[in-house]
Amino acid sequence: MPELPEVETIRVELEPLLAGRRIRGASLDRNDIVGWPAPAGFLSGVRGRLIESLDRRGKYLIVRLDRGKDLVFHLRLSGHLEVVSASEKPRFERARLVLDNDQALSFVEPRVLGRVYLADAGAYPARLGGMARMGCEPIERGFTAGYLQDKLAGRKAAVKSLLLDQRVCCGVGNIYSDEALFRAGVRPTRAAGRLTALEVGRLASALRRVLADGIRWCGTTLGDGRYLRPGTQQGSFQRRLKVFGRAGERCRRRGCRGTVVRTRVGNRSSYYCPECQH
Ligand SMILES: [Zn+2]
Repeated sequence: MPELPEVETIRVELEPLLAGRRIRGASLDRNDIVGWPAPAGFLSGVRGRLIESLDRRGKYLIVRLDRGKDLVFHLRLSGHLEVVSASEKPRFERARLVLDNDQALSFVEPRVLGRVYLADAGAYPARLGGMARMGCEPIERGFTAGYLQDKLAGRKAAVKSLLLDQRVCCGVGNIYSDEALFRAGVRPTRAAGRLTALEVGRLASALRRVLADGIRWCGTTLGDGRYLRPGTQQGSFQRRLKVFGRAGERCRRRGCRGTVVRTRVGNRSSYYCPECQH
């Protein structure tokens, strides 16, 4: 699933193609790709709207329209956004916004798990209620060691599970949580409330740095190829992963002779080096 660095990369790359364009019309190949409102209301609601800017909150991409409307995309596992020429229709296109320059924004989603919502900015429907409860993003100024300490204190759950909780670390998913835990030297299975203040400090800083690095390298495209940037380009952070997806391979820290192992935390896979992480 695209995490914060992937959605941020998509935002940065789509904004110059979309900002200032007017939406001439829209079409749906699958009505269930629209999470809100009903399909007819969605189609009439976007028609004629001006795209002002692109924003992001956690893993959600927000297209700001005039008249105080927001188009919110949740890409989930396999959703992809592409600007194409008006005559071009990608395979698995589920929704299409026709622009005023002979181009269209195509929402491609083979598995139809992703959704697009049209809502009043500041008055999102209950289906987007999770967005109101989101915590701090690690790249935000407010994400300090103290903030993370407050969220982890007294919690018996595995630290990895709490890093995946959007109310704790907004925008973080399976890949970047494992990479941050490696950088901090903390095992994913540790009880969150048992981390020392020093470890929490290292973890807050590792989360900030790993997300910034992910953005810098345009996100992570794994072998499943699910995450693609606009233009069907791949990200390149996968070449810099230290533990995620590397079970059975040598640890990449210089001098370490450990082998990366895979475990389960909750119902998610988690990768770590038993020599580097305690
Ligand atoms: Zn190691």
